[in-house]
Amino acid sequence: MNLLPVKPASNSKLSRAGVLLPLRLGRTYDYLIDQDAPRGSLVTAPLGPREYVGVVWRDAEGDFDEAKLKRATLFPGHPRLPEALCKFIDWVAQYTVTSPGIVLALALRTHGAFEPDVPRVGYVRGNATPQRMTPPRGRVLGVADDGLARGIQALAEEANASTGVVRSLIETGALQPTTLPEFDPFAFPDPSFHTPTLSLEQEAAARTLRAAVASARYSAALLDGVTGSGKTETYFEAVAEALRRDKQVLILLPEIALTTQFLDRFAARFGCRPAEWHSDLSQKERKRTYRAVMRGEARVVAGARSALFLPFANLGLIVVDEEHEQAYKQEEGAIYHARDMAVVRGRIEACAVVLASATPSLETYVNASTGRYQWLKLPRRHGAAVMPEIRLIDSRHARSEPGTWLSEPLREALTATLDAGEQAMLFLNRRGYAPLTLCEACGHKMTCGQCSAWLVEHRYHRKLVCHHCGYETPRPAVCPQCQTPASFVACGPGVERVAEEVATVFPQARMAIASSDTLHGPAETQAAIRAMAKHEIDVVVGTQIVAKGHHFPQLTLVGVVDGDLGSADGDIRARERTFQLLHQVSGRAGREAKPGLVLIQTRNPEDAVMKALASGDRNAFYEQERMYRERAQAPPFGRLAAIILSGADGDAVRNSSRALANAAPPASGVKVWGPTPAFYQMLRGRTRERLLVQAERHVDVQAYVRAWLARTTLPNSVRVTVDVDPVSFF
Ligand code: ADP
Ligand code: ZN
Repeated sequence: MNLLPVKPASNSKLSRAGVLLPLRLGRTYDYLIDQDAPRGSLVTAPLGPREYVGVVWRDAEGDFDEAKLKRATLFPGHPRLPEALCKFIDWVAQYTVTSPGIVLALALRTHGAFEPDVPRVGYVRGNATPQRMTPPRGRVLGVADDGLARGIQALAEEANASTGVVRSLIETGALQPTTLPEFDPFAFPDPSFHTPTLSLEQEAAARTLRAAVASARYSAALLDGVTGSGKTETYFEAVAEALRRDKQVLILLPEIALTTQFLDRFAARFGCRPAEWHSDLSQKERKRTYRAVMRGEARVVAGARSALFLPFANLGLIVVDEEHEQAYKQEEGAIYHARDMAVVRGRIEACAVVLASATPSLETYVNASTGRYQWLKLPRRHGAAVMPEIRLIDSRHARSEPGTWLSEPLREALTATLDAGEQAMLFLNRRGYAPLTLCEACGHKMTCGQCSAWLVEHRYHRKLVCHHCGYETPRPAVCPQCQTPASFVACGPGVERVAEEVATVFPQARMAIASSDTLHGPAETQAAIRAMAKHEIDVVVGTQIVAKGHHFPQLTLVGVVDGDLGSADGDIRARERTFQLLHQVSGRAGREAKPGLVLIQTRNPEDAVMKALASGDRNAFYEQERMYRERAQAPPFGRLAAIILSGADGDAVRNSSRALANAAPPASGVKVWGPTPAFYQMLRGRTRERLLVQAERHVDVQAYVRAWLARTTLPNSVRVTVDVDPVSFF
C-alpha cells in the first residue's frame, strides 16, 4: 500500500502573471490566472470594458492585493506562442522604439485563431445499399468508395451530382456521418517532386544553401543573380533541403510578386502550392493558415511582410525574395523593415536566411562584400537567354512634337518589335493621365486641399485625384482663381497619356494600361499578367505593377519613358532606387531565346545611374554609392532615425517640433537635424514636421531617442512617430 502524502494539485492555486496586450501600452499588466502558465500562453483578459487576447509575457510586476487583480483566462488546450516569436516581438519593439503591444498586435491579427476546433460533419460509405440506384447516386457512391470523409458539397461536386442526391443517400444510410477537422489540411510539398537540372553556377550556390539549412544554425546569404538567372530555382533547393529535414520555410515576397505565376511555379517544383499569407486572404483562410503554421503543419508559407510575425513551430529557412524592395518597409503602426527583421528572426530561430536580388540594397551589398553574409553569384541568364542591350536616348535632342512622349528611336523600335510579332513594354512610374493640371490664363495649379500635392488627372475616370488621400474632383469648368472658362491644360505624362499616344501611332496594336487604377485588386492584375504572358497583348503601358519579377517570353522591347523620374527625390537612396527600378524593368526584356532591347529616355545621359545602366557595370555604381555613403556617414556606415510629428493643429505641431529640437540631449557622435516641414507638409489635413537623428555607427540610437522623448512632454493633439532606418523621407 502506498502511504505517500497526497500533494495538493498545483492548479488549484491562482498564479499571477504579467500579460502583454496588443495595445499601445508602456508595459505589461498583472492578472490572476487559474494555474501556472508559461510565457507565451494565450489568454483572454479584460481591460476596461473590453476583453482582449493577450499573452503571458513575464512574471507579475507589482505586489498588488490579490483581490484587486483581474482574472485572465487561458484558452482551452493552452495554446502558446513559440518562445522564439516572443523574443522576436521584444526585439522588434526595442529596435523600432515601439511599444511591444503594438508589435504583438502584428502577431495576433487573426480572429479566432486560438479558439478550439469546430469539427465539421463529413460522410463516408455506409453499409446500406439504396434500393433504387440512379446514375448520379452511383457516381456519388463511387466517389465515396475511396474511404475518405467529405462534406456534402464536396461529394456533390466531385461526383457532379446535386446535393439533394447526396442527402437522399444519407437518409438511406448508404452514406454515414463522421467528423472532419474544421479545416482541410495543407498538402505536403514534396522536395523531390520535380528536381530541375541546375547549371554549374546554380548548383554551386544551391550546395552552399543546402549546407546552410542542414547546419541548423543561423546564417545569412545574398543570392545575387542577374534577372532571369534562376534565383528562384536555386533557392527552391534550399526549400527542398528544409522540407527533407522536417522544417518549415517562410518565403517573403513583395505583395505584388506574390502571384499565381509564383505559386504555380512552386507547385511545378514541389507538387502543390505553398500556404499563402497576404492582405487579401479571407478570415477563414487566415485562421486555417495561422493554426497550421502554429502546429507545424503548413510546411511552406509564401507571404508578404506580415508573414514574418506568424507563429512558426519549427522554422528552418527564411527566404526574402527581391530583398531590395521598398515594399518590405512597413510605414505605419509599428514601423519596421521586413528584410532586416527577417535576418533578426533567423538569428533568433537559429536558421538559414537567404536574401535574393539582382539589385541588392546597398546595405546588403556591403554586408556581402565584407563577408558578414555569404555572397552567392549567378552572373548569367539561364539557358540561351542573354542580358538585353540597354541604350540611352538623350531626350533633349531626340524630342518629338510637343505633347508627345515617345522619341523617334523609341517609335522605330516599337514598329520593328510589332512587325516581328513580338511584345513591348513602355514603363512610366506615374499613374493617371497627367501629373499637373495648370490654368493657361493665370498659372493656377490644381492642388489638394488636404495635402501639399498636385492633383493628378485621371482621364479614364474623368477625375482629378490626390494620390495621397484619395480626394477626387471633376476638372473644373472655370479656373477657381481667375474664372477663365476651359483654361486648364494637362502638363506632363502619366501612363494613360502615353497609352493615348500609342493608340494614335499604332492603332492596330493590342494595348493595355497596367496601373493600380486600371487593375483593381490581385485578381485583375493576375489576369493582365496572364494575358501578357499568353501574348494577347502587344504593348503594355505600365507602372511598376507589371515591371517587376514577371516573365513574359515574347517581350523583347522595353521603353522607359522618363528615366529621370525619381532621381530628383533628393534623399540618400534616390539614386540607388532609380537604378534598382530601371534595372528590374530592363530585366523584363528578352528573357528567352530572342534577345531584348531596352531604350531609356533621359535628359541626363551623363548621370552615374544612367551610365551604370547602359554599361551594365552594376558594382562600379555600387562602389561609388558606398563611397558617398561612407563619407556622409549615412547607412550602413552611420545610423539614422527620423522623428515625425503630425497633427491637425499646424501651430501645435510646429511649436512641438521646436520644443522637441531644443530638448535634444547633447551626446557625442549624435547630430540632430531639423525641425523641417516634411516633403509633404500636409497629408490628409495633418501638418507634418520632421527631425532627423544622425549617429555614428557605434551609438545606440534607440536609447538616445527613448531618453530624448522621455524628457519632453508634448500636447496630446500631436502624434510622434519614430522611424528607425528610414527609407522614405517624405
Ligand atoms: P530570376 O528569379 O533570377 O529572375 P528565374 O528563377 O525566374 O530567374 O528563372 C528564369 C527562367 O529560367 C524561369 O522560367 C525558370 O523556370 C528558368 N530556369 C532557371 N533555372 C532553370 C533550371 N535549372 N532548369 C530549368 N529552367 C530554369
Ligand atoms: Zn490629398
